[in-house]
Amino acid sequence: MCKVSEVRVKRTELKRGTSTLTRSPMKRRGPSRASRTPPKVRPWNTSARVDTGPSEETRALVWARDGGVCRRCGKPGEQIHHRKPRGAGGTSDPATNEPQNLVLLDQACHEWIERNRRACYVLGWLVRRHLDPLEVPILVNVTTSLRLHHDGTTSTERRLEVDR
Ligand SMILES: [Zn+2]
Repeated sequence: MCKVSEVRVKRTELKRGTSTLTRSPMKRRGPSRASRTPPKVRPWNTSARVDTGPSEETRALVWARDGGVCRRCGKPGEQIHHRKPRGAGGTSDPATNEPQNLVLLDQACHEWIERNRRACYVLGWLVRRHLDPLEVPILVNVTTSLRLHHDGTTSTERRLEVDR
């Protein structure tokens, strides 16, 4: 049995006046590089997930098509939303990263869609896996639906009746 009292730690006595740390003086060299260079913001890719998103070309096309503003509320666009979600089969579908599946939104509307997924499948902000985004228009308001085409153009359809 080993008694605790028998364990002795050998300690070197500290001498008064001896600094235990050796420090080199800080040198100021002006503002650091990090503070001078603003971080590169890629508003269309704020997700931390590493995945294969749309090409730069497609992003630019969607950004231009949507006039740089959120398609839902008209505020400055911040993120490109996938109507048919990526992952879990989404990424295997080449149409996932094509213009008809992408729509520019601001952060608030993107979050709104995530919170109201059931309604958004009806409204067309989200597209069910077995459906084609080309065939599912977005109901932007009660009377108007928006169709996103493969070539990056859109068309609006006047809805005479709400049939959903
Ligand atoms: Zn919005």
